[in-house]
Amino acid sequence: MENIDLKTTDFEIPPEVLDQIQQNIQDIIRNFDIPDVNKDEVLKKINFMYSQTRQMTVTDALTKLYNRRHFESNLKREYMRAQRYKSSLSLAIIDIDFFKNFNDKYGHSCGDYVLKELAYIMLNTFRQTDMVFRYGGEEFAVILTETPFQTAVIPLERLRKFIENYDFKFHGQDLKVTVSIGVSSNTGFETPWEMFDDADKALYDAKRSGRNRVSSAVQ
Ligand code: GH3
Ligand code: MG
Ligand code: MG
Repeated sequence: MENIDLKTTDFEIPPEVLDQIQQNIQDIIRNFDIPDVNKDEVLKKINFMYSQTRQMTVTDALTKLYNRRHFESNLKREYMRAQRYKSSLSLAIIDIDFFKNFNDKYGHSCGDYVLKELAYIMLNTFRQTDMVFRYGGEEFAVILTETPFQTAVIPLERLRKFIENYDFKFHGQDLKVTVSIGVSSNTGFETPWEMFDDADKALYDAKRSGRNRVSSAVQ
């Protein structure tokens, strides 16, 4: 059988199935013919293991940010909420510029270092009500709830500048890291995935026009 590396693989059990499994296990234990104090102890342990497992289903192992699965379900929900209540919503996609160079020049662990450091910076940049995800290899997404375009660009531009000036150091080597950011604040599409494509197009535009910048689809 193929060996699965749990450290680098997203957990592939959907949360609804996990909830069902946990419920079934609890029911079985309640029916066991053992003293109640032991039952409590076993239930406590199972609930702990369950919460850890559930966390794994929505988390990226390297950066500890939310993963792509969680991104998709959150984008869908927030998009529907914004449409229903006519509130504003912004979506940003952040892609590291020439990231391949870090791996090629200094090895894969250098790339990993940059990813982890960036995750930390991002978590400290945005509001608690915003959500940061590792969407792909060196791509991140941020959902900014209740945030119109004019307000979204402020933290995004701040983040871009902060990264540009941040002292990335890997094994004594100074690294110059920049990011390109595409943002969409349009909630008039048929589906949230069209909003994603809109932000992705803006990202492409940021790359094409020189990188290290925030671009938006036409507002
Ligand atoms: P661009 O400015 O156009 O975005 O250039 P780029 O080099 O960032 O883009 P490209 O898509 O060519 O390269 C992305 C690289 O990201 C390729 C892959 O080796 C690397 N990568 C993806 N995931 C990981 C990871 O988990 N760790 C490390 N170290 N590297 C990764
Ligand atoms: Mg990329
Ligand atoms: Mg890149």
